[in-house]
Amino acid sequence: MKYALFNNQRIIPTKNVNEAICPICGEVVIPKCGKIKIHHWAHKTSQNCDPWWENETEWHRKWKEHFPEDFQEYLMIDSNTGEKHIADIRTNKGFVIEFQHSSIKYEERQAREIFYKNMVWVVDAKKYYDKFKQALSSNSLLHCKTNKNYFYIKENYYDNKVNFLPRTWLESSVPVLFDFGVNDIINNDFDKQKGWLYCIFPEKYYEKYGFGTSYCGIYLRKEVFINKIVTENYFYPNIVLQELEINEQAAQIQRHKWEQEQLKQQREYHKKLLQTKYVNEKSWRNAIHDIRLAFENNIFKPLKIYITDDGKITDYSKKNIYNYSDFMILGTKSYEDIYKEKTYTKNELLLLIKYNERFIPALTTMPNNLLYILLDMKINFYIMKLDIIEYYSKYKIFPSDFDRIYSDFNVKNDLNYIFENFKQNRQS
Ligand SMILES: [Zn+2]
Repeated sequence: MKYALFNNQRIIPTKNVNEAICPICGEVVIPKCGKIKIHHWAHKTSQNCDPWWENETEWHRKWKEHFPEDFQEYLMIDSNTGEKHIADIRTNKGFVIEFQHSSIKYEERQAREIFYKNMVWVVDAKKYYDKFKQALSSNSLLHCKTNKNYFYIKENYYDNKVNFLPRTWLESSVPVLFDFGVNDIINNDFDKQKGWLYCIFPEKYYEKYGFGTSYCGIYLRKEVFINKIVTENYFYPNIVLQELEINEQAAQIQRHKWEQEQLKQQREYHKKLLQTKYVNEKSWRNAIHDIRLAFENNIFKPLKIYITDDGKITDYSKKNIYNYSDFMILGTKSYEDIYKEKTYTKNELLLLIKYNERFIPALTTMPNNLLYILLDMKINFYIMKLDIIEYYSKYKIFPSDFDRIYSDFNVKNDLNYIFENFKQNRQS
């Protein structure tokens, strides 16, 4: 504790003051003014009478000291039950901030939220910093497109053992502000993640918007947060959430536009398809037949290809870049798969790529929405270009420039054979 009562006054730990009492239990407390631990008042029986109290670190103390003294260590009493606890910060408007350094049990977190009601948590998140940085570089933390101060955390990334934020905090009923910083919270630290607080809202958006994201939040500079508490005595006005909602709606409209645009393109493709001329595809027909034979003899081994963050279509050797190569889709299949302990629908595509005058059978994956667009066409009768498309801020493979292949009875037969066999065979 930073404050004890002495002659009915709040007093900081002072040497030789031996009659100060604990504001909660009234027991005499001893000033501890050593060199190693921060100066504090201690109960004689080493145990603190407030079960929620955690030993203060420099991190606690520095945070508290950014607020007026009469906000700090405020004694709160439940008028019905008489239960007493010391809030780290309580403003004139009854708004509470609890600083939490060590991990906390779900039940205690909940009990404290029920007791203080109007509160936020500030969590010492230094230990999550490395994982957090990974999350930033992967796609598990997405920034709201219309306002980069808002972010979303994808649901399927938190629900596993490599959580970058503990679940107990994500399930909090009040906002939780993660402090990834160093002890000196306001300094000239230009490392963004350290100078900012990442605030997760309790509202879970996936209930409203079913596009696979759930937790959302805002990041704000520490000064902004402190300033808001000191001047306005609260944080988390509804306006923040309203703004977020408006932003999210705008993002949804954008997504809708994008989908409409895709449909339009699809119709144009169809139109174009009707006008395309048959190409000279003799070599293609031979390559298709070779694949059929490979299927029949159980020696079919397609190459796996994927797309890099900067939009290069490549295989695991990374030597060959297939962008804008001619290719055909010979088959598709969808099945339930598990990724990070969550099931999802995996769509695999079997491609035949023409690369340096060679024909390469290849496997790749495609998101549902894109695949639906393709499935509307007789996709396995066209030679196309391997192109990329921006899809939810990542690049995905999507064909362009359709040319029709002349399909006599034999080619049709081969194509249908491959299509059916690929679909049925899960381990290709
Ligand atoms: Zn006490």
